[in-house]
Amino acid sequence: MNETFNNKWKSHKNLEEGVYNLLEVYLKNKIKQWKMPNPSSTGPEFYLPANFNWKKEWREFVENYRLCFHGDKDPISWSSFYNYYTKHFDTLKKLNHKTDYCNFCCKIHVQLLNKNLSNEEIENKKMLLNEHLENARQAREAYNEFRRLAALQNQSIVLSFDFSENILLQNLQETPSIFYFKSRRKIEMFGVNNEGSNIQMNYLIDECFKTPKGPNCVISLLDHYIQNYVPIGVNLVLYADNSPAQNKNCTMIPYLSYLVKVLKRHPQIDLYFLIAGHTKFGPDGHFGNTKTEIKRSICYSIKDLIGSEGLVQR
Ligand SMILES: [Zn+2]
Repeated sequence: MNETFNNKWKSHKNLEEGVYNLLEVYLKNKIKQWKMPNPSSTGPEFYLPANFNWKKEWREFVENYRLCFHGDKDPISWSSFYNYYTKHFDTLKKLNHKTDYCNFCCKIHVQLLNKNLSNEEIENKKMLLNEHLENARQAREAYNEFRRLAALQNQSIVLSFDFSENILLQNLQETPSIFYFKSRRKIEMFGVNNEGSNIQMNYLIDECFKTPKGPNCVISLLDHYIQNYVPIGVNLVLYADNSPAQNKNCTMIPYLSYLVKVLKRHPQIDLYFLIAGHTKFGPDGHFGNTKTEIKRSICYSIKDLIGSEGLVQR
């Protein structure tokens, strides 16, 4: 515990009213310990470490308070504590799965913490960050607009596609212990999401048929989807993530040109990429739901996953 804090704490007479002052000093000292600048509502946002827990901070504050004043009552309830820091320290944020925060954003945020930067450098970095965020925001807006239009009319179809992380299946109870923890069956999942209807088709690739996640694999699966589920003559809008190995390459573009110019299957195909690092889109949501469902259910093989009664509906 910081010394100035202890002094201020002990000299406090009016406890009921003084709790908030103590809390302010306490949190400011904590922020000094984390080597963060004094947060204010006008500054840039700072992300706390992943293991950080506000509830733990509240418990620590209460324990320290009790130690100092030999009391056994909580000086402040969890909800008041929560309201206090969200109001006064609102630039301190915690990362969660919904936070749209990429490596570039993180790099600039960390650079901005450096106190030796001149004003000009700070301005430059802030400008870079704002430009990047503005690009990401515009890309996201365009994507949402396409989704909205696709849901309203049938002239164009919007598809987004991506690979999921590998799915690990559970082991049978009878599996010998030497294999039990080492070898869970891996299944790869490639999803093509129709943004208009928000129905996703998942292609499952079993471990024994594993193929490199290259243009060959992506285009084969995408072609299967287009040939079977996309009507002839509609405009096609495709959304892919930024991976050059999978989508941004000299095979994908000729394939799409082939569909338009040679087969004359579609009058127009647009291919879009979201800004690198901010690529959470349709398929990711579906993958999340599927994985949650797999965790809850008993799935031992790819057969349990597919089929009309399987988890991943055809
Ligand atoms: Zn970013």
